[in-house]
Amino acid sequence: MNRRFWTAALGEEALYEEDLPDCCERSAKSFDSSFECPVCGAAWQAPLYVEPEECAFTERANDAQRKGAA
Ligand SMILES: [Zn+2]
Repeated sequence: MNRRFWTAALGEEALYEEDLPDCCERSAKSFDSSFECPVCGAAWQAPLYVEPEECAFTERANDAQRKGAA
């Protein structure tokens, strides 16, 4: 199961959807791309999808990530 990873429009904060403030997490579930939380006003940018590790489909992507991160 993929996890969504949101980045703050302001600043460089990046959080898993489940780690967003409760109000933002609820809002995020109704959006597929960038949104502004109607509760607290925080703006979040389109999510990255974080693939589970050790998945055959992502082997090449993970390989590239390892090289980039090393
Ligand atoms: Zn919020």
